[in-house]
This record gives sequence, C-alpha cells and structure tokens, in this order.
Amino acid sequence: MALKIRPVHKNFFLRTAFFHHQMAKKIKTVAVIVAHPDDETLWAGGTILNNPDWLCFVICLSHKSNIERAAKFTEALKALGAHGMMGDLDDGPEQKPLSDNEVQETILQLMPPLHFDLIISHSINGEYTRHRRHEEVGRAVIKLWCTGRLTADQLWAFAYEDGHRAYHPITIEDASIYNSLPPDIWENKYSIITDIYDFDKNSWEAQTTPREEAFWEFLSPAEAQQWLVDGYMPIQVE
Ligand SMILES: [Zn+2]
Repeated sequence: MALKIRPVHKNFFLRTAFFHHQMAKKIKTVAVIVAHPDDETLWAGGTILNNPDWLCFVICLSHKSNIERAAKFTEALKALGAHGMMGDLDDGPEQKPLSDNEVQETILQLMPPLHFDLIISHSINGEYTRHRRHEEVGRAVIKLWCTGRLTADQLWAFAYEDGHRAYHPITIEDASIYNSLPPDIWENKYSIITDIYDFDKNSWEAQTTPREEAFWEFLSPAEAQQWLVDGYMPIQVE
C-alpha cells in the first residue's frame, strides 16, 4: 500500500516546535476538535479550566474569515489557557451536508501532526437537535483515529442531549465521564460565553452553559468504530 504523506502546512514547523517546547512543561496533551467558536467552551470549557496541567490545542473548523468571531475565539482560548487554529468550512444556515473527505482534510490541515494523550470532540449524534456540523465532525474525528491519521491514547466525545428540543442541552448521566463543575469554574466558563462571546444572558447559549460536563470515553479506535456502526452508546454495566 502506498504511504500517504500529509502536505506540509506553512505553520507546520512553527506549531510542531511550539508544541515540543510546551510539552516539556505540561503533563497531558489534549486536542479539542469542534465545529464552531464557542463549542469548546460550552461542552468542555469547565473541564479544560479545571485541568491547568493540560496542554490544550483547540481546532475550530469554521468562521476563520469572520473577523469578529475569530477574535472572540482567540480571546476565549486565552481565557481557557489553550492554543488553537481555525478553519473555514461552510457553515451556512441551510447546513448543506459536507463530504467526509472535506471535513477530514480540514481537520488534518489544522492539527499539529503529533500524538495526543487525549482527543475531545463532538458526539456522532450531536449535542442538541440539531446541528449537522457537530455530527459530521464527530464522525470525521473517529474515522481519522481509526485510519491512524490522528493518533491519540483515547477519545472523549461530548455527551449531551436536549430531549429533541424539549429543554436546553443537558449532560447524559450514564456517560463514561461526568464532571460536576466547581462553582468558580462554572462562573469562569459562563463569563467566556457572556463576556467574551458576548451572548446575551437570555440567549440559548447563555441559558445552556452546562454546570456539568459529560463525555463518552473510548480507549481504542475499535470501540469508537463500533459506535459509528451502532449509532448509539450502550449503557455500560459495571
Ligand atoms: Zn456548534
């Protein structure tokens, strides 16, 4: 089989050197891969804030050319103590389906070509009803992990649901990992949503900002692949 070589991005060497330098100082390397600026904060911001020993790199796949949203994303990452990159995948209101290939290639162009201890991304079922991009990104990350084009010791997928729009998204209590956020961490997360992203207190985002964060945990690509096949997570019995 021919070996596939990833094209070298112009920031490849800078990002790699930066990461090697930072990795010497931090305990755990974590990549967070999300569809939109604010997803990293809404679904995982408390967990990131609560783990200052993580070296966290956030990939946001859309809105790089939206100057205002890109500036807010940069500020949010500063507040989270993270670094990151943005892409410009289509994110029109009609949510036109994107090809697997396009989503996967965008992720690869933005990711430092390094092994991560942990990758965190969307659920293949999304976090609420409904944003197609969340589901597409969740699937793409699993496929990249299964084909070895992303390498990590484990994958966590956001575990939230909204009862088919019956309520704002809440954590799925049966998920593998369930973090109840300390009040000060939640306040910090909420201020990123309201002060940095500038969402009104009555907005869907501000009202959603979860006080708990939950994740489905996968310790091997095979487990994640099974999730793609089944389409749902079986409740695990201890
Ligand atoms: Zn989103």
